[in-house]
Amino acid sequence: MSSLSLREVKLCLLGDAGVGKSSLVLRFVADSFNENSESTIGASFMSKTLIVEDQTFKYQIWDTAGQEKYRGLAPMYYRNAAAAIIVYEITRKQSFEALKHWVKELRQFGPSNIILAIAGNKSDLESQRQVSSDEAKEYADSIDALFVETSALTADNVSYLFEALSKRLPQESI
Ligand code: GDP
Ligand code: MG
Repeated sequence: MSSLSLREVKLCLLGDAGVGKSSLVLRFVADSFNENSESTIGASFMSKTLIVEDQTFKYQIWDTAGQEKYRGLAPMYYRNAAAAIIVYEITRKQSFEALKHWVKELRQFGPSNIILAIAGNKSDLESQRQVSSDEAKEYADSIDALFVETSALTADNVSYLFEALSKRLPQESI
């Protein structure tokens, strides 16, 4: 017999502007990709239901803007979040350094039990890679975060990211 438990999960996406946060959300929620994705203003909200191992997760996704001028808004979105996906692009080292600042901020001001995932996006641009998988994995392990390299363009590992994240959420049903 399958369980009918439903979990509502508040999820927040953080990371530099241009790394592909909105594109990952669009791929996950609508299985589509937009070449000309527009910069997110402030933040945007989407929801999506996902079933993993007989459990239904209703994701409430807050996709934030990465620009400096909106940084002050971030706490509003990670407050009470069960999980955060922090995104960098494998083709831009600077975005990986920026990710570390987001981790520090979450550790200091975010929910203490927040589940973290690190997504190295744009894995389709292998020839332009600036951040090695090993380096990123090692960092993710050091902060007990899930690590996945994704491509919102090809959809590679996008479902996997959300499934693996779901499995990391503490057991609890409502
Ligand atoms: P955000 O600012 O983090 O929300 O980034 P966007 O989702 O707006 O994406 C920024 C740019 O990168 C857009 O031109 C996207 O089309 C492009 N992009 C996003 N994800 C990928 C990806 O996986 N591969 C490639 N090649 N381009 C991507
Ligand atoms: Mg965006």
